[in-house]
Amino acid sequence: MRIITPGEGETFDIELEENLLAKNRELAQANRRRLDERGIKAFDVMGAVGSGKTSLVGRLIEHLRDHRIGVLAGDLTTTIDADRLAQHGAVAVVQINTGRECHLDANVVAKGLDELLQHDLDVIFIENVGNLICPAEFPLGSHARIVVVSVTEGPYMMRKHPYILREADVVVINKLDLAEVVNADLEQLRRDATEVNPKCRVVLTDCLGGEGVDQVAAALGL
Ligand code: MG
Ligand code: ZN
Repeated sequence: MRIITPGEGETFDIELEENLLAKNRELAQANRRRLDERGIKAFDVMGAVGSGKTSLVGRLIEHLRDHRIGVLAGDLTTTIDADRLAQHGAVAVVQINTGRECHLDANVVAKGLDELLQHDLDVIFIENVGNLICPAEFPLGSHARIVVVSVTEGPYMMRKHPYILREADVVVINKLDLAEVVNADLEQLRRDATEVNPKCRVVLTDCLGGEGVDQVAAALGL
């Protein structure tokens, strides 16, 4: 089979200039310093639309009752997730509408922190835009990155998205309750994830029912 691999500058993608990425890394480090100065732990959550990012954050907020939690919710245009998370008991929720931008970057997170850091917080969750490609390239300054994958995303999901998986400290395989319905091979998914990223922790969850959420919290050191 012939495989076409576009070279540098040959795709009509928006070219990610190296200096743009370098600037982002700088701003991410500045975000981290602001968090560390205040003793706040931040975690960012990546994954496809519908994988269960908001459900996971909502369950974590409920599980971590003794923590003061803030949320930055990234989304193209809506406040659906931010509204949901406010109901779960977050101390402060800031919505970031990215418009046509398909990922959060460290600059927009810095603006979100301007708001959130007016509150006394222990933990911040940052929910990225539902996208498995470019969030991997944009560290935000968090202490660990979570990737949520639903069992409904198919058997090859882990192998098809190596870039985002390599960024993950914790991989959450969600919607366990649907595993049987879609005939998902959970052990294969787990093996694939650790093959792509041997350092990641894999946790199986049903974020609607709440199963496994305590193990995600433990994997984050919370
Ligand atoms: Mg969401
Ligand atoms: Zn993007």
